[in-house]
Order: sequence, then C-alpha cells, then structure tokens
Amino acid sequence: MVYECEDCQKQWYYNVKKCIFCQGDVIELEPGKSTVRGITKIEIPSPGHTRVPYCDLLLEDEYGNFEIRKSFSDHDLGEMIEAVPKEAKKVAKSRTIGIVGAGTMGSGIAQICAQTGYHVLVIDRHEETARKALIKIDKALSKTTKDDLKQEILNRIKATTNLYEMEHADLVIEVLTEDMELKKEVFRELDNECSKDTIFATNTSSLSVTELSEVLKDPGRLVGLHFFNPVPRMKLVEIIRSKNTSEEVIEYAKEVAFELDKTPVVTGDAPGFIVNRLLLIFLNEAIDKYADGTSTAADIDKAVTLGLNHPMGPLALSDLIGLDVCKAILDVLYEGYKEPKYKPCKTLCEMVEKGTLGRKTGEGFYKY
Ligand code: NAD
Repeated sequence: MVYECEDCQKQWYYNVKKCIFCQGDVIELEPGKSTVRGITKIEIPSPGHTRVPYCDLLLEDEYGNFEIRKSFSDHDLGEMIEAVPKEAKKVAKSRTIGIVGAGTMGSGIAQICAQTGYHVLVIDRHEETARKALIKIDKALSKTTKDDLKQEILNRIKATTNLYEMEHADLVIEVLTEDMELKKEVFRELDNECSKDTIFATNTSSLSVTELSEVLKDPGRLVGLHFFNPVPRMKLVEIIRSKNTSEEVIEYAKEVAFELDKTPVVTGDAPGFIVNRLLLIFLNEAIDKYADGTSTAADIDKAVTLGLNHPMGPLALSDLIGLDVCKAILDVLYEGYKEPKYKPCKTLCEMVEKGTLGRKTGEGFYKY
C-alpha cells in the first residue's frame, strides 16, 4: 500500500497518520503493477554497485512506461511486480530518517539520505545552523545535479529545531558534537519522543556506543554508524556493534548502508574502531619521523603517496583533519588500550599547545 499526502503529494510505503512535512491528511493508494520485460544478472561489483549478485530489471508499467530497477531478488520474465521498488519496501520502515546535529557530518549524511529517496528531518539546536546545512546541501548538489532533480531532493529535507518532530522517524542518526553527556541527554529525550520501533544510530568517532546505549529503555536498538568525511564521497561506513546491539539492528544498519550506496564493515565497540585505530598510529609515527629532522614534510608525504600509493601524505592529512583532533583521538586510544604505541608524540603535543593545528589555523606542517 502507498500512502499519499492530499496536500503536498509526498508518499510513504507504510502507514502514517498525518503528513510528516505539512501535517496534511493522508490517503491510501493501491500500488500499480509493472511487468518484468528483461533481466540482466550482474555478478561483478563496480563503483557504486558493490553488493553482488544483483539483477537489472527492465520493467514496463501499466501505462507503457519503461524503467530499469536494481533488485537483489530472483525474477522471471513476464512476472508482475509492484511498481513500488522492492528495495524501498524492504527498508520501508526507514523511509524517514532523522538527523540530529546539522554540522559537517550531519549535513553530509542528510544529503545522501535525501538523494537516496528518504524523507529527512534535520535537527540542530540553532535554527541558523540547520538553515546553513540546507544551503550547504543545495550548493553541493548544484555541482552534480540538474535543477529539477536538485529541487526534488531538497524538498525531501526538512530542517527544524524541535526534537519532538523525530516521533515520525524510523531511523534517527545522532551526529552531535563529540560529548558523551550531551549525546546521552539527547538520546534520553529521543527515547521518550520516538516510537518503540525507532532504530537509533550514533556517528561517534571515539565514544563508547555501549555506554551510550545504556540510557535507552531498549539498549539493543542503538548501533554505531560511523560515516567518513566528506560523506558524499567516502564509500565506507563502519557499523559498530555495542555489547547490547541486537543482530536484527546490525542487519538493518547494513541494509541502510547499502541503500545509501556505501560499503559497510562491522566491528566491535573498541576505541578507534578499525580505521582510526590504524590511521592515527600511522599519522603519529609520521609526525615523529618528521621530528627527527632528517626529512622534510613534503618528502615524507611524497614517500607515502608514491611508495604506498596513498592519495595523500600523512602530514598533509594530519593538517586536514586538524592536529587537535588527531591528538584527541590518540588520547582516547591511549586511555582505552593503555599501550605506549598510542601515546601522542612530543611534536604533536607541542604543535597543539602552540595552536598550529593545520588548515583551520592557517599553519601546521604546511602554511595555508
Ligand atoms: P560539528 O561540530 O560540525 O556538528 C555538530 C552539530 O551538533 C553542531 O551543528 C551543533 O550545533 C549541534 N548540536 C550540539 N548540541 C546540540 C543539541 N543539544 N541539539 C541539537 N544540535 C546540537 O561536528 P561534526 O564534525 O559534524 O561531528 C559530529 C559527530 O560526527 C561527532 O560525534 C564526531 O566525532 C563524528 N565524526 C566526525 C567526523 C569529521 O571528520 N568531522 C568524521 C566521522 C565522525
């Protein structure tokens, strides 16, 4: 069944009582049928289509219009299937995604969710930040998307400062400032506002997902969904299994990641997860190498880009991330694993102390 708002014509594939966007009345529509006219089975992954095997179906609807649709299920020629995409039905319970925090990562996640077809509610405590996030998404889409499609995507996003609007969200992704107490407080509120079926995710880079989950009535409903910056370009999502996360929620998180055209990897709830644990030890070592004075920053970066085939050298990358952020992550790793290899090196600490933090202050290993 399809549910459509009588006023703004937005549609849902599950029952909503009132339109989430304009509060208009919602009516039930019978979904149309399409006939499978052609099937191509794809066994080899390609950029943007990493999950295989899948089928490209050539579908003809009841008005003679053709469309190509990706499907992960088996089909026969001549089969009648619902005009509503199977994948949309499969993750129907996540057709509205709430994003709490409209900063760097929140706006990127909101953009890819809306591009994928989700309705998106973006919340920030500051109206100005929520509004700016929409402008940022508009700008980003202008570079890659035609005007009418861009408008269609933007129409799926609503920016607000009211947490209670999350009551309609099926998945809420928390993307707040990295502060355990703040995140706990917001999750407590979300737990009261949202339905008992809402799934919660956190984009935290360093905090314990298990500890966060314990403020919820059902801690099994929280999973870590760790996106990378810049979100629209980076293909990886780390899915963090807390000590409490249910298997169903892990599977659901994978499904959402695939829907967003990302590749998920699952890992346990330990400091640094996978990528930051490996990366920061490498950046720290590069900074220590720089400190011995035998190579310039440019030569260390050149050695890594050409010798290891990395797209960017470790010192340029540290400048991009921000040396204060690098040190903060190393502190978390050192605190968590109590091993000297994670201790921020002397030069990194000195540069942070001095306030030469990289690009954001105009100087780090390079001048900007
Ligand atoms: P950010 O500072 O750009 O955004 C955080 C947003 O949260 C701000 O807009 C702020 O106004 C909002 N906020 C704070 N308190 C709020 C409240 N009570 N209610 C509503 N909104 C509130 O931070 P960011 O870089 O987007 O990082 C967000 C999260 O993502 C952090 O947990 C961080 O560890 C994680 N993360 C960041 C990166 C990165 O490269 N920046 C990468 C991966 C994960």
